[in-house]
Amino acid sequence: MLKTRITEFFGVERPIVQGGLMWVAAAELVSAVSNAGGMGFMTALTFPEPERFRAEIRKCKTMTDKPFGVNLTFLPTLRPPDYPRLINVCIEEGIRFIETAGRNPEPYMPQIKSGGIQVIHKCTSVRHALKAEKIGCDAISIDGFEAAGHPGEDDVTTLILVPLVRDAVKVPIIASGGFADGRGLVAALALGADGMNMGTRFVATREAPVHENLKRVLVRSSETDTRLIMRSLRNTERVLHNRAADKVLEIEGRGNTQIQDLIPYVSGLVGKEMLEGGEVDGGTIAAGQCIGLIRDIPTCRELLDRIMDEAEGIIQTRFARMLGDG
Ligand code: NAD
Repeated sequence: MLKTRITEFFGVERPIVQGGLMWVAAAELVSAVSNAGGMGFMTALTFPEPERFRAEIRKCKTMTDKPFGVNLTFLPTLRPPDYPRLINVCIEEGIRFIETAGRNPEPYMPQIKSGGIQVIHKCTSVRHALKAEKIGCDAISIDGFEAAGHPGEDDVTTLILVPLVRDAVKVPIIASGGFADGRGLVAALALGADGMNMGTRFVATREAPVHENLKRVLVRSSETDTRLIMRSLRNTERVLHNRAADKVLEIEGRGNTQIQDLIPYVSGLVGKEMLEGGEVDGGTIAAGQCIGLIRDIPTCRELLDRIMDEAEGIIQTRFARMLGDG
């Protein structure tokens, strides 16, 4: 058992957080992570219609009595959601933790805080972490360059960002980007984090509502099988290397790219169809470099048990031996 500021903060047994995964972080996965002792986050934008979102929160409550939270991403989107209404649903449903991501959550802080909700802001730079603490965020999730989805434009890896953010802020921090196993958890704690966040690793679990074809692709892929797209729009996204990613890069290579040119490949609706239907080349799908570390498709409980065993083994045996203690 590893007790950290993050396990205390969330009131969970294990310092492992499941990050917001568009289309994937629904009740089945979120409750499975929470039931396994971690902290699950449901992505609100997966259910942009507020009453549908409320129903998913209620469903999740029937599947776990453990804490879980909601991810609210404020990135450019093709279908702008009604954030205030989604936040209201969180307040009305008694959600205690919101993970914000993508942009400074300041405009929404008064509303979120009026519901007594704690805010974990996920960001990709020291300056944004400092700003988040200043505006009242209760914890920071710091996302390195290895990460899936939107790792920012600075290209600084987790190994550098986590200790820098540790030195810069007082609030608890969660290390994100590149994590998939117990070695990563020990490393995150050694770098000064209070817990680790995993995204892609949770997509290759039995409970993730994702077609088996895509889970198997993640298992087969190596650490070099991701690409950075939408760099030309300053909205960089790390995705699985497939035909659609190559096509996007080809279009971007021509210069003067507009989002409209990329929609057929990057639209989340195309990604949703792929996740459900199992087609692996039709569009782009977020994936982190940690795919190189993914070798199986366990249940969330098996995964978290294994991570904790591995992490505790490293600390109790390997490190103890190094100290001449074991
Ligand atoms: P979507 O269909 O709304 O958009 C597809 C992609 O195009 C997204 O990456 C989006 O950021 C980008 N995009 C949209 N409009 C843009 C613009 N005007 N300029 C530049 N880029 C633009 O996306 P979705 O898959 O339905 O996801 C909804 C939201 O959740 C998006 O904002 C997406 O980026 C975000 N998301 C975030 C993560 C993450 O890593 N935090 C992962 C998945 C999705």
